Amino acid sequence: MPELSKKTACFTDSVIRRMTRIANRYNAINLSQGFPDFDPPQKLKEALKTAAGGSLHQYAVTWGAQNFREALARKQSKYMGIDIDPETQIVVTCGSTEAMMAAILTVTNPGDKVIVFSPFYENYGADAILSGAEPVYVHLKPPYFNFDINELEEAFKQHPKALILCNPSNPTGKVFTRDELQVIADFAIKYDVFVITDEVYEHIVYKPYKHIYFASLPGVADRTISCSSLSKTYSITGWRLGYVIAPPAITEHIRKVHDFLTVGAAAPLQEAAVTALNFEDEYYEELTLHYTEKKDFFLQGLDRLQLKYTVPQGAYYVMVDISEFDVTDDVKFCEWLAREVGVAAVPGSGFFKSDTQHFIRFHFAKNIETLKEAFVRLKDLRIKAKGKPWEK
Ligand code: GLN
Repeated sequence: MPELSKKTACFTDSVIRRMTRIANRYNAINLSQGFPDFDPPQKLKEALKTAAGGSLHQYAVTWGAQNFREALARKQSKYMGIDIDPETQIVVTCGSTEAMMAAILTVTNPGDKVIVFSPFYENYGADAILSGAEPVYVHLKPPYFNFDINELEEAFKQHPKALILCNPSNPTGKVFTRDELQVIADFAIKYDVFVITDEVYEHIVYKPYKHIYFASLPGVADRTISCSSLSKTYSITGWRLGYVIAPPAITEHIRKVHDFLTVGAAAPLQEAAVTALNFEDEYYEELTLHYTEKKDFFLQGLDRLQLKYTVPQGAYYVMVDISEFDVTDDVKFCEWLAREVGVAAVPGSGFFKSDTQHFIRFHFAKNIETLKEAFVRLKDLRIKAKGKPWEK
């Protein structure tokens, strides 16, 4: 058999999505891959029924249906505080996964460097490899996941093409402050670098923290490629609706990449999702409250178990410190946890550049009942963990 691509030999399948398969195999409560076990808003489900009964079953315009782009431009212009032209600045993609891939493919040549903060959402590693780009990692140091300005500037001095900014951050839950964003913006201008953002948790931020859209900072809109999706905001991860917002000259090229990657996002789902994009402000306020309640419940549960963790400021993940279990292989630990304790988490090592084995990531985008059951199962964790059975 001829040799397969060297690129695909350089990364594994997604550990996050592998953990979901493991969770399903052992009937574990799946707190690994981040998606809700509750339904999207009723109005949205009804809109989907209507769309299914209608006649939009063929391709939508490659870069997104007109009404979807118009509704998205209205909503994002308002929340991002910048003027977005639906005709020239939007590409509707199959989730933000495609948005990020298309953005990175558009700005990089093979051999170009891309700055990635570590820990990072695992897709960025594979995105870089598939684009032939080389990640330059800058550490975010627990517990607050701050970066060192000098380390960041050293990375910028290596002439990267782009910096990837996940804010609010997966997996850390960090929400970058205005000062931090300004430091990144100043370097991006000084060293002439693109900033590609992943802002899928834009509406899941806990008080007193606030999400600041990178593109809204003075002087950076022309070099910012903002990626996001409807998945988390409207609890529709399976609809695979994402988008890129960028200046027209960049959008034109992202549209070409997107066209040949996927042609377009599902037409009836775009049609239905217009309903969500037109929701009033209260929807987003309630979403924040809803997730704040889950976060508080989850952190209290961890406190009762006396597990150490870093407090999320946004998104719906918690990094739990498992140092006390003296784990040398967190993948084995998480498999054991799913199989023997019945709760699935993501091994932290998949998120870090360095060999870090003492974090696992839980998410709490679940019904309170589901989270309660997870804590019932986790109650005897220490007893079950005696003798490090995952090593056997
Ligand atoms: N963002 C989700 C997570 O980190 C997963 C998204 C996906 O699997 N595409 O768990």
